[in-house]
Amino acid sequence: MTLTLHEALDLIRAKLAATQQRPAVESSPLDEACGRVLAEDAIADRDYPPFPRSARDGFAVRSSDLESGAAVLEIEGEVRAGQQFQGTLARGQCVSIMTGAPVPDGTDAVVMVEQTRVEGSRVSILKSVKQGENVVAKGSEAAAGSVVISAGRRLGPGEIALLAALGCAQVRVFRQARVGIVTTGDELVPVAGKPEWFQIRDSNTALLRTLVSGAGGIPHIASAVADQPEALTAEIERILGRNDLLLLSGGVSAGKYDFVRPVLADMGAEFYFEGVSIRPGKPLVFGNVGGKFFFGLPGNPVSALVTFQLFARPALLTLLGAAFEEPLFLRAQLEQAVLAKPGFTAFVPARVRMTVGGPVARAVRWEGSGDLVGLAVANCFLVLRPDQQRLVAGDSVEVLCKPEN
Ligand code: AMP
Ligand code: MG
Repeated sequence: MTLTLHEALDLIRAKLAATQQRPAVESSPLDEACGRVLAEDAIADRDYPPFPRSARDGFAVRSSDLESGAAVLEIEGEVRAGQQFQGTLARGQCVSIMTGAPVPDGTDAVVMVEQTRVEGSRVSILKSVKQGENVVAKGSEAAAGSVVISAGRRLGPGEIALLAALGCAQVRVFRQARVGIVTTGDELVPVAGKPEWFQIRDSNTALLRTLVSGAGGIPHIASAVADQPEALTAEIERILGRNDLLLLSGGVSAGKYDFVRPVLADMGAEFYFEGVSIRPGKPLVFGNVGGKFFFGLPGNPVSALVTFQLFARPALLTLLGAAFEEPLFLRAQLEQAVLAKPGFTAFVPARVRMTVGGPVARAVRWEGSGDLVGLAVANCFLVLRPDQQRLVAGDSVEVLCKPEN
């Protein structure tokens, strides 16, 4: 059964939701937690910011002193980041203050230094100021005890920084899913091998290893297998028990030597779909064998990359304890016409760049789904929907970013 892009995504989401068990929880040092999935809500240990914080270098003032515009105020002292000002200010007084310093009692706004002129122990404030201006109120980012990162969120650099701010040297994260990677093909030699003129190096193992670890999984590389059913059966059986998800590359189409589907069927696999109406990537299959989900990815490297990013990555994120993440399509303006075959969602390698008028994109030269050279020039894919056979320069087009890691 061939599904559309969205039918396939919905089905994967539903299958994973139906069988999903919470992964085990473990502790990770904060420095190693980037890319991991948070297993427990992160709670603010105190108010953030913990004190009313000046957002500017300037003068902490009472806004009521400046109601009628400019004024001359007495400078009572100075407060820098990491220090506190003792005392409370009265009418007509102010304190020189630096960015990050606590705003003294009695003041309620900060005037930027650029809008002042110091004359001895006094300062002329050149402009009126609103209450709270340039002050980040205590607890305005988060109140003590509130959830600042929910369990199930994948940690990126910003979340790591927030956990550092909260004082979490160790974080509770979900165990990483292990992903078995099996490449098939008589024509393949290892990266370090010397191919005969009719052979090629196995690039999908390197591709999938990188994509899996980039998504937060642990890749487990099986032996590359010849197009031979017994060898393939043996290798799948060998690695199935040690992995949470199986990725097979190649041998999934209808060719005479494509054994992935018959071998899995003989092993009692259930196939949820066989084929998606996308280009490249149409032969993709998804199913379950021996209680483990598998994806049979097409062998062409660009097809393998696209199908991983669209389908296997969201599935893997779910197994890692994170929410199912639909692929994100952004929009750009086409710089050049593109053609696509109707009836498919096409992913066309392209370059997107920023201009003053907004993002613009154009397809790169490429020779089809085996062309890693063309892919290397691209930084995104144009996404042409099944009813978009032809788009012309100036049309708005959806864009899928090429994975960065
Ligand atoms: P298949 O999906 O097995 O029919 O392969 C489709 C195309 O992808 C063929 O040209 C294969 O040589 C190529 N291919 C298959 N597996 C790999 C791999 N691991 N690395 C690079 N190219 C591959
Ligand atoms: Mg093959």
